Amino acid sequence: MLFKNKKESFVVYTAGAAVLKEIAKPVPVVTAEIRQLASEMIKTMRVFNGIGLAAPQYGHSLRLVVFDVPREGSTGTPGEEYLLPKMPMAVINPEIVMRSSETDEKDEGCLSVPDIYAPVVRPSRVLFRAQTIDGEFFELECGGLLGRCIQHELDHLDGFLFTDRLTPQAERAIRGDLNRLKSAGQSCNYRRISKK
Ligand code: ZN
Repeated sequence: MLFKNKKESFVVYTAGAAVLKEIAKPVPVVTAEIRQLASEMIKTMRVFNGIGLAAPQYGHSLRLVVFDVPREGSTGTPGEEYLLPKMPMAVINPEIVMRSSETDEKDEGCLSVPDIYAPVVRPSRVLFRAQTIDGEFFELECGGLLGRCIQHELDHLDGFLFTDRLTPQAERAIRGDLNRLKSAGQSCNYRRISKK
């Protein structure tokens, strides 16, 4: 498909880009184009060393997410047991059906918010419902890093970044850096990596 020695270019949209603020549209059916998009997103996620990437970050306002969460550190929830061995994977129309009342605080980062990290409080576990790109429906309880990554990526589908989820104190700590990123982005709201 790709010519040898052709330079490939990988793009991720960054904070300030309009596409990151939209409510993404459902994927009605998995077409060849959707498969192609998912495989490009998996490549892009890996080039940027991410563990998840939502289609809006790749410039497409669609409810499509790819994950590559490592198996190490699993907390043993059914969702981690079932999904982590399948990584990398692509899902369409993902939903969070329930959230645990118990919460955790962990530092998060985002390929769309480069070099900025901040602690985010989120439910420790979620009931995650989605369809794989191969047509398998599942509904599974997911905790640990996977549970957090699911919540982070699904936020992207509704126009939220992790920086919208901070305590006032954490928000103050990164405000300057985030404003600099957004204003730098007025001319260029994306990052590009080119690889041979
Ligand atoms: Zn993100």
